[in-house]
Formats: sequence, structure tokens, C-alpha cells
Amino acid sequence: MKTYHIKTYGCQMNYSDSERMETYLQALGLSPCKDYKTADLIIFNTCSIRQKAEDRVFSEIYKVEQLKKKKKDLLVVVTGCMIRKSSSRYSTERDALFPRMAALDIALRIDELPSLASLMREIQPALDIEAIEEESLEDYFQINASHSSHEAKTQAFVAISNGCDKFCTYCIVPYSRGREKSRKMEDIIAECEKLVEIGVKEITLIGQTVNSYGLGKADEESGKFANLKEKEPFVALLEKLDLLHEKGLERVRFTSPHPQDMSDQLIEAMAVLKTQMPYLHLPVQSGDNRTLKRMNRTYTIEQYREIIKKLRAKIPDISISTDIIVGFCGETDEEFEKTLKFYEEMAFEHAYIAQYSQRRGTTADRFMKDDIPQKVKKQRWHKLNFLLVKMAERGYKRFLNKTVNVLVENQNGKTCMGRSEHFKAVQFNSGRKLLGQIVPVKITRAREILLEGELV
Ligand code: SF4
Repeated sequence: MKTYHIKTYGCQMNYSDSERMETYLQALGLSPCKDYKTADLIIFNTCSIRQKAEDRVFSEIYKVEQLKKKKKDLLVVVTGCMIRKSSSRYSTERDALFPRMAALDIALRIDELPSLASLMREIQPALDIEAIEEESLEDYFQINASHSSHEAKTQAFVAISNGCDKFCTYCIVPYSRGREKSRKMEDIIAECEKLVEIGVKEITLIGQTVNSYGLGKADEESGKFANLKEKEPFVALLEKLDLLHEKGLERVRFTSPHPQDMSDQLIEAMAVLKTQMPYLHLPVQSGDNRTLKRMNRTYTIEQYREIIKKLRAKIPDISISTDIIVGFCGETDEEFEKTLKFYEEMAFEHAYIAQYSQRRGTTADRFMKDDIPQKVKKQRWHKLNFLLVKMAERGYKRFLNKTVNVLVENQNGKTCMGRSEHFKAVQFNSGRKLLGQIVPVKITRAREILLEGELV
């Protein structure tokens, strides 16, 4: 039997796509193989968020190049965010954009996954794989994720949409993943039902702009959600998932939402649904309106502030985290200072801070100057990170001497690790087997990014 090995880089969406690939490859009769050196097919599911991420892939592919010299029938596939729209016409002749990838046989965009089998046969007509009806797969979302990486079966990630219509000027996603397309609601529910049946208690819905589920142009044109009338598709989905609470689903999270689509309906649903948690990761990217405009973020800081105000009015103890890019094209000291101020004002409890890194093919790459020196980007990162640590400490300390409910995701001997409802990492000891259970823990110590406590 032929074997495959998938190397995955980057975000949770890529990991979810790799699980979809697994289902597809196993349907072709291929089996997984831990050591890439013995695999017949190696797939690189790539990330392009920073140059460093791309460089890592290049160096891994170089190793495979050496391997291919000895193993002539080895097939090498590259997919994920390094495949830009401009190169999306997958090509068995190799893409002109990848002169550094001599070992590459197939470059395809992730939504072109259903055609992988025929592409492989094009290169190796005698390849021993099962027949698969490509035409029956309208889109790659019809291939279910294997969920093989959720060994503990306590929590799972479920993709609900792919692609993005927002076109932030620094971002490659609309080019690498294409326009936003949502999965059918009934398919999502069916997948979640199966996960709940095997004991999954927490589901995280994922999508590039997860809360614009069903609102993209392609979805509008397809009329897929026309029956919902006044109800927003994402809210309807959360409500349907909430019904699984009776069957054992305790928590539903989602990442990452876009501020533009944080509607009143959604805030209300977050406040009243049993499976919704008092936590939200809402990327702001900058605390300055001029910078937001250059980034083509489609909101102002005033609108963002209003969303947080409404969220805190409905869910008073909610924890909020964010994403911020420092050193974006043209960011002045004054603009950066506004970000610092805004961070403090919003009382974010955590953030992913990135130093701006120009990505090939984006609007910023084509029309803006990456004019902030690396040294300044670094200084701004440190300044903001200093504030982050201070604010995070405050966010963790507020749980001291309180009892929180923890979903145990890991147990190593007596040491249990899990997450609270507010998405805080919690550690405690227990002689009982608690993996997969939600248990009350009294917090006795708050460390920088960890709460410690005792089982109640
Ligand atoms: S919203 Fe912006 S940052 Fe997020 S995926 Fe879309 S284009 Fe990229």
C-alpha cells in the first residue's frame, strides 16, 4: 500500500485542512506514515504569515529534494498559503513562482484538493490508488476532517468557511484561499453531532472571518442561506449548536471574528446561549484610524470601542484578547502611541503581536512602502509586549480565590491541564482520572500566563 506524510505549518485552519486531506488520501487507499523519508507522497501544507514561515518550508523542501534524487517515484505536493491566486492554475510543470522548489510535482490551492488524485495520475499514470468521483465533490468542504489529531477527544476544531472577502492590505489569504465560501449548515451540524457522540465537549468553529459565515458574496449568489430571512447565518448556526448541549456539548468557541460583523444579534447570542463562553478574541490590529484605513480594516476605533462596550454590558466579566500588527507601512510614533493607549483602554487580557512583514502579492506589497526600520518595529513590539504582560497579569489575578470550571485537556500522572470558561490555562493536581471532564478548581496562584489551583 502506498503511504503519505503531511507536513503542516501555521494556523488551526491549516491543521483542519490537513485532516481533510487525510480523509481524502485514505479514501484513495493510501495510509499514513510517520517518517517522511519512507513516504510515497509528501504534502507540505504551508503558511505564509511571515517570511520566516516560508523560509522554513523552503529548507524542508530542500531536504526532500535530496531524498527525491534517490527515490524517483516520490510525489511532492505543496498547498496552503504559499500558493497564491496568481499561481493557482496548478501545474504539473511546476510553478514559475517556485524556482526554489526543484522537488515539487504539484502546486495546488487547498480548495482544489478534490482534483489531487487526477493530478497525481497525470504524473504517474500507473499509480496504484483507488478511483474517486471528483465530480461528486462540489467543493473541498464535502471531504470530512479526520479529527485524528484530537487524541484526547475532548475538544475539536471545525471549519465552517474558507477564504476571505475583506482584502486587508497586508494579508495574503484572499489570494491564497480565494473568496469567502461557507460550508452547508447541515454538514457542520452533522460533523459536530458525531464529535459530541465520541465525547467532545468543546468545539471551536474556525474560519478566516468566522462571524461572516453565510454573508460572503459567493454565499449570497448561491442563495444558500436565503431561508434565514432576518436571522444572521452565524447566529443561526450558534443556536443550532446550542441544542447539542443536551447531548453533552458544553462549550462552543469561534475564531477569528472580524469587528465589522460583530452584530447586536451575535452579541445577544453570546450572552444567552448555554454553550457560549465569556471569552472573545477580536483582532483590532491597530489603535489608530489612519493606520486601520491603510490596512483596509473596515471599522474605526470608535466602532470597535462600541462593540466592546456592548459586549461588556451583556457579559460583564468577559475576557477579551486581540491581534495587533506593529510597524505597518507608514506607522508614525504618534500612531503607535495611540495603539498603546487603546490597548490599555480596552483592557485586553492577551494579544498576539506581530511585527509587520511584507508578503508577496498583497496590496501593501504592491502599493505601499515597508518603511519602518526593523529596529523600530522591534522596539514597538517590546513596548507593546511590556504592556501586554502587565495587563495579562491583571487579567489572571482577577481569578485568585475564585472557583473556575476547567475542561481537562491533558493529564500527565497527577498533573492536570485545561482551560477555564474564560480561556485561561489552568493547572492543578489530582489522583483521579479527569481527562475530558469539566471540573471546578479553586485558583490559588496566578502566574504570568497560567492559573494554578486545587480541585474543589
Ligand atoms: S479579514 Fe483581513 S486579515 Fe483576516 S483573513 Fe481576511 S484579509 Fe486576511
